[in-house]
Order: sequence, then C-alpha cells, then structure tokens
Amino acid sequence: MNNAMQIESALNLTLPSPVLPFSPNWPGAEKVTMHIKRDDLIHPVISGNKWRKLKYTFRALPPACKHIMSFGGGYSNHLHACAYLCMRNNIAMTAMVRGDYSHNLTPMLHDLKNWGTRVQFVDKKTYQRRTEPGYLAHLHQQYPHTFIVPEGGSHAPALQGVAELLSENPQTFDHVLVPVGSGATLAGLITALKPPQSAIGIAVLKGKGYLEDLVRGLLPREYTDKNWSIAHDYHGGGYGKAPSSLVEFCNLFTTEFEIPIEPVYSGKLMFAVKEMLRTGYFPDNSRLLLLHTGGMQGARPS
Ligand SMILES: *Cc1c(COP(=O)(O)O)cnc(C)c1O
Repeated sequence: MNNAMQIESALNLTLPSPVLPFSPNWPGAEKVTMHIKRDDLIHPVISGNKWRKLKYTFRALPPACKHIMSFGGGYSNHLHACAYLCMRNNIAMTAMVRGDYSHNLTPMLHDLKNWGTRVQFVDKKTYQRRTEPGYLAHLHQQYPHTFIVPEGGSHAPALQGVAELLSENPQTFDHVLVPVGSGATLAGLITALKPPQSAIGIAVLKGKGYLEDLVRGLLPREYTDKNWSIAHDYHGGGYGKAPSSLVEFCNLFTTEFEIPIEPVYSGKLMFAVKEMLRTGYFPDNSRLLLLHTGGMQGARPS
C-alpha cells in the first residue's frame, strides 16, 4: 500500500456508492426501470466524479512531486476536491482560477485558503492557454517538481477511476446517463460498457461537436462512436446558466426524492431524463442508470 492508498483509507469514503431504485411520477417513467448511482455520497468534499477522476492521479504521483497545480473556475468542484486531497496528502497546491475573486471569495475559494492552497487569479486570456504545451512548459520551469493536473482532472488516468464504478454494484442497465462538462467521465464510462450497453451524455454547456471531440480525444483508439452519444438540448443556455424553471425543478426534485441536485450538472441530467421519458426517447422496458456525479459547489450560498 503506498502513501496515497493509506490516505484514501483514512478518508472513510462511501464505496461502493449505493445504487437506488428511482420511480418518479413522471410521464413515461412507468415504461422504464431506473436506478440512480449515488456517487454524490462518496465524500462530503471529494464527491462524485471528482474522486473517480483523481484517484489514480494521486496514486501514481511521482515520489518527487511536492506540488500540484490545477485549473478551474471560482466554483470548481474539481479544484475543491483536488485541494482537499492535496492537504490530506501533504502536497502543496496552486489553484489557477479563472477570473479575479480576490475581493469576493466564493465559499469554494474560502475553503481552499483554509486548506493552505495558493490561489492565483488569472485573466481569461491566460486561462485559455491552460492546455498549450508552451505555457505548461513555462509553468514547469517556474515551479519545478510540480505535477500539473488538467482542468476538471480530465486526463488519461481519470478514465480508469471512472470505469470502475460500473462494476461496483449488481444492478444491470441498458443505458447509463451522465452530465458532460469536459468529457472525461463519459469517456471513462464508455471504456467500461459491455455491448449492447450504451452511454448517453447530457451536455451542460453549448458544445455540439466540441464535446464529442473532447471525448474522442480522451478515448483510447480502439473505441468508436457506436455505443455513445451526447444530447445537446438541455444545457439551459450554457455552462453555469440556470433558467428559473431549472432552479425550480432542482428544488422540487431535492424535496420530493430527498436527493440533493444542483442546476450546473446533476439538475441538467435529471431534467433531461424527465424530458426524454416524456418524449419517448427510450424503448419500452429500457433499464436506465443515472449517475449522480455529486459536486454541489455551484449550489453553495455565498
Ligand atoms: C465536473 C463535473 C461534471 C463533468 O464531468 P466531466 O468529466 O468534466 O465531463 C459532472 N458533474 C459534476 C457534479 C461535476 O462536478
């Protein structure tokens, strides 16, 4: 057991996360069987897909690594999870945050400061360079012995962590549904499908074509487009945009089913599922697995 694994066991993660039957009183829901996998219950901070994506990143860190850098917005679930893991692993962290929140820190950024994370605010133009090799080389030069985790924790080791989740529980399914931001969670699920299973991503931002390319870019070469797709009708106007109807839906859902959801990710997923059921998207008797990816930073009161 390496150090990262010892720390993992001290985190008391709720794994496997539970899979619960879900039978809402929604038009069309009577024709299918649904379950929700509650990855939101894995840990209060390192919840959902951010734990899945960071698990092998931390396990595989070179021993010489003393510092992690990563990127995200002021409400980033990824920076929150990554910073907490760095604190627990005794690794310094610098968070490159898009925009200047220095005069009004978000609750997420307050947590980072309390955990000893160095927060660096960067303008939009600099932030756009976050995947450029030249920029990353410059950061490496400036900060030696640093491991740079891409935005969202979305790189190859993330796929393995995500793939594991589909074999944790005995329930079977035909379609797994998941919100899509950077695509790594969807890509990880695709690698774990057993034909004829399929994965359906719900885009949380305007990204027709772009999101598909991100997913293809993360997938190992042998995977084709056959058993997955992304639905682009449910982003609600863009990333972080939440029409009042969506906010209302999230509040009602949270009260009725006692499963907290928020409008940035899980709310868009559940809203999409409700619409798809109403319009008969799924063949009768389909078995759906809805992945609650956790992450409530977008819903914390300031
Ligand atoms: C980051 C995040 C996503 C998006 O995952 P990707 O792998 O970037 O597509 C979905 N849900 C929640 C709750 C998240 O925090």
